[in-house]
Amino acid sequence: MNNGLPIHIGAALLGHLNVQTTRGYVAVFAEDVITQYQQFLARRRAERPAGEYREPTTREWNEFQDHFDKRRVELGSCGRPYGTPCAHEHACIRCPTLSINPKMVPRLDELEEDLIARRQRAVQEDWRGEIEGLDLTLAFLRGKREQARRIARSGPVSLGLPVVPHQKPQVAPG
Ligand code: SF4
Repeated sequence: MNNGLPIHIGAALLGHLNVQTTRGYVAVFAEDVITQYQQFLARRRAERPAGEYREPTTREWNEFQDHFDKRRVELGSCGRPYGTPCAHEHACIRCPTLSINPKMVPRLDELEEDLIARRQRAVQEDWRGEIEGLDLTLAFLRGKREQARRIARSGPVSLGLPVVPHQKPQVAPG
């Protein structure tokens, strides 16, 4: 990071949920965070063909918005790459790209109850393949619920804004 890697990327690489944790290791100040991020954007833009920075057409803009509208799912937000369809047959609960909306945690509780009831029936009927699938879904559900609770506990991460030092007004000589 001291060589210019943006701290938010460093935090992601290190698996830190909160950028403050990363800051504790590298003594990065709020102003550095903003400066590094702006430098990162400027470097990325400099590497892209200038033609990519034209104004989007109405069709392109509508497609762009449409993509994000379609990423809203019952349990939260789908993080699949821009312009790609769902590659996991809408099995969101098992999907690594689903981010749970914390307000939907009670819905996960309901789904868990239903899965447990189905598992009991599968055990009674000796449907072993079904049991295996249900166990997998339950494991994903519990993992995602824990993740959503952790995020709800930590709250949003504020990157802060650099404080501009107060300057005294210049007094004209004479
Ligand atoms: S299964 Fe995954 S990729 Fe498909 S809609 Fe759900 S979260 Fe998105």
